[in-house]
Amino acid sequence: MKKRSILSLVAAGAMVVGLAACAPAADTGSGDAATDGGLIGVAMPTKSSERWIADGNALKETLEGQGFTVDLQYAEDDIPTQVSQVENMITKGAKALIIAAIDGTTLTNVLQEAADGGIPVIAYDRLIRDSENVNYYATFDNFLVGQQQAWTLLNGLGLTELDGTAIADAPAGPFNIELFAGSLDDNNAFFFFNGAMDVLQPLIDDGTLVVKSGQTAIEQAATLRWDGEVAQSRMEDILTSTYSDGSKVNAVLSPYDGLSRGIISALTDAGYTVGEGWPIISGQDAEVDSVKAILAGEQYATIFKDTRELAKVAAAMAIAVLGGDEPEINDTTTYDNGKLVVPSYLLQPVQVTKDNVKEALVDTGYWTAAEIGL
Ligand code: BGC
Repeated sequence: MKKRSILSLVAAGAMVVGLAACAPAADTGSGDAATDGGLIGVAMPTKSSERWIADGNALKETLEGQGFTVDLQYAEDDIPTQVSQVENMITKGAKALIIAAIDGTTLTNVLQEAADGGIPVIAYDRLIRDSENVNYYATFDNFLVGQQQAWTLLNGLGLTELDGTAIADAPAGPFNIELFAGSLDDNNAFFFFNGAMDVLQPLIDDGTLVVKSGQTAIEQAATLRWDGEVAQSRMEDILTSTYSDGSKVNAVLSPYDGLSRGIISALTDAGYTVGEGWPIISGQDAEVDSVKAILAGEQYATIFKDTRELAKVAAAMAIAVLGGDEPEINDTTTYDNGKLVVPSYLLQPVQVTKDNVKEALVDTGYWTAAEIGL
């Protein structure tokens, strides 16, 4: 009995090993690199935001499940650290690189090294700019993210449905709005801001929305390294310089939950109270604290981008290239990185307000009800 169970365990183990060894070949064709597994380098920007931790974990799990070894590194938003992490991955013999850049323009030299070594590069979520050595790009529809953020603001103000459809008998306004953008070294910041302004500009032009601070250019609205404290102090400055006359800010365009939390702190410190003229605030990434803020009525909405799906797409791209196959792409026109239009796969972002927190985030298994205090 004992002997048989040990034997069957050994047999089962052999099967698992066999399957693991076969998995990449089955998925990706017959390239040697994929068949043997091997090392894949995954460079993430920072652990200071939950989403990148989730992205890193999902990539590691997906690639390891396909028989690869993963070198996962975080650079704490320090550009030289990220460059040397990628260099190390190349030195260690990485067969492919998946990179979410801190500054999309600073990897040109190290990616030349990768190209010289025949190592394919997948840009992860953020476009890598100024390099011809980027093979594919896995991301979300970032212009749509910006539009969706703007629509959540208009929805909160009672002007439109969440898809931008006008609401009959909507209030005339005018509403005071302030604008925040992301880090200008991140290509996504432009896509988010341009998408949002595509929706907001006509309403600014017809006087429904008023940017009372006058700060409408992306350079004025930008937030270096997506830092919530930077956003908080800019919001404090705007409240002091522009709203000391007793007027109120009615909406704030924020492109990322971490900035929204800084903005919320500034508003609270300035005496704003939920339920008493509290502004409509957007966000992105469905971070736990911000989902709680949505449930508490402090933040109106976030944009959920399922990092598990993005990880699957990016991993499949790397595995396909290693196997000599063409990865699946659905966009060949949008993402010009200054050297080439990078073939891309764009996933669909999802708006989340109080009304669909459970459906979008709990029912999909992204957060448990306990984690977000539902
Ligand atoms: C990502 C966003 C994220 C931001 C800050 C962007 O490149 O697309 O999801 O909120 O970086 O980390």
